[in-house]
Amino acid sequence: MTAESRQPPAPAPAETAIIVENLHKSFGSLEVLRGVSLTARKGDVVAIIGGSGSGKSTMLRCINFLETPTSGRIVVNDEEIAIRPDGRPANRRQIERIRTRLGMVFQAFNLWTHRTLLENVIEVPVHVLKTPRTQAIARALALLDRVGLADKADTFPAFLSGGQQQRAAIARALAVDPTVMLFDEPTSALDPELVGEVLSVIRDLAAEGRTMLIVTHEMKFAREVADHVVYLHQGRIEEEGPPERVFGAPQSARLRQFLQTVG
Ligand code: ADP
Ligand code: MG
Repeated sequence: MTAESRQPPAPAPAETAIIVENLHKSFGSLEVLRGVSLTARKGDVVAIIGGSGSGKSTMLRCINFLETPTSGRIVVNDEEIAIRPDGRPANRRQIERIRTRLGMVFQAFNLWTHRTLLENVIEVPVHVLKTPRTQAIARALALLDRVGLADKADTFPAFLSGGQQQRAAIARALAVDPTVMLFDEPTSALDPELVGEVLSVIRDLAAEGRTMLIVTHEMKFAREVADHVVYLHQGRIEEEGPPERVFGAPQSARLRQFLQTVG
């Protein structure tokens, strides 16, 4: 067989940042995720949209094992995370290792309130990753500078606006140099005038090739930054595709209706 006649090689595993395959999650008798599959290659920005209660947060929480999936496959950075059929937490150490590769930013800015921004950002590098303190501080200051908070390093969260706190939360998530950033509605708790500054930071991260999964209600933003859009409905992917198609020519009636309601 000549080289030309061979099948094109499957993408090298190194190009894939996250694989989710047939993910199921139930809470008691409530089946919240009913077989969700998605793949993000390195550098991909995947936007996850869907109505309230469709399972968006549960999906992100399963990916970093804040919830234990009921079944399915999750691979982060070529490492498959064992999911036990009995629903008990899988290998603790593995989960801790995986978590340090996933930077998660939640809806509510959950900074440690009794610590300055700098202390917030260095916490995990110093105490979990055992990064030397001076090195962690230098990196934290650079990250705070990146999100426009260089002059707030010694400030406590309570003295900052919601937008500033959320930008600090992004700096903190970046401090572990994550393979993938997970954002769960990062702007939905903000006053409208503060949304733009946070989206702008996320937009910059997308532009520099960070792999990201973003749950958002900001459709204009999703359309602009995402490579791929996933619409969840009742725990299943109802429709997915490139943003131009999902937003410009939605096939499913449910998605069309959803897009009308969110504007
Ligand atoms: P979304 O983020 O799309 O709004 P969620 O993933 O938060 O949806 O929730 C999906 C469904 O799962 C909802 O019906 C919610 O009430 C339920 N749910 C989420 N977390 C839990 C939990 N820890 N225990 C029981 N039910 C939950
Ligand atoms: Mg949610």
